[in-house]
Amino acid sequence: MSSGEELLRSKGLRVTRPRLAVLDVLAAGGHLEVDEITRRVRERLDSVSTQAVYDVLGALSRAGLSRRIEPAGSPARYEARTGDNHHHVVCRGCGEIADIDCAVGSAPCLDPDIDHGFEVDEAEVTFWGLCPTCQARRTADD
Ligand SMILES: [Zn+2]
Ligand SMILES: [Zn+2]
Ligand SMILES: [Zn+2]
Repeated sequence: MSSGEELLRSKGLRVTRPRLAVLDVLAAGGHLEVDEITRRVRERLDSVSTQAVYDVLGALSRAGLSRRIEPAGSPARYEARTGDNHHHVVCRGCGEIADIDCAVGSAPCLDPDIDHGFEVDEAEVTFWGLCPTCQARRTADD
């Protein structure tokens, strides 16, 4: 049994070829737009509709096997790294996204002073800036 099958079964999800293909694509890492995920899934399976990929991503996200992020001004992206409350830094120039760990060993962002009685399980923190490539381009333009 592949690790993808084990993951799906561990969450009580039916094992299907599109689900395995999407898991495989996400496992390669990164923060991928649906168009990119669909393109890569189609390299593995003959015919998969964009809607089918959306459905798979919805099921995987609800099961905690993928995480959906949507930085302001950017389409939704999906990643396989879940459950660690990590944050993201987004480049204002090109949209490049990188992971930023929450404090190691604990998640201080999940422990706000005032929680209004909510049971908080995620802190959506987005850092904005310029990636090294865009910094170099800016310097070259000056
Ligand atoms: Zn950039
Ligand atoms: Zn991430
Ligand atoms: Zn944090």
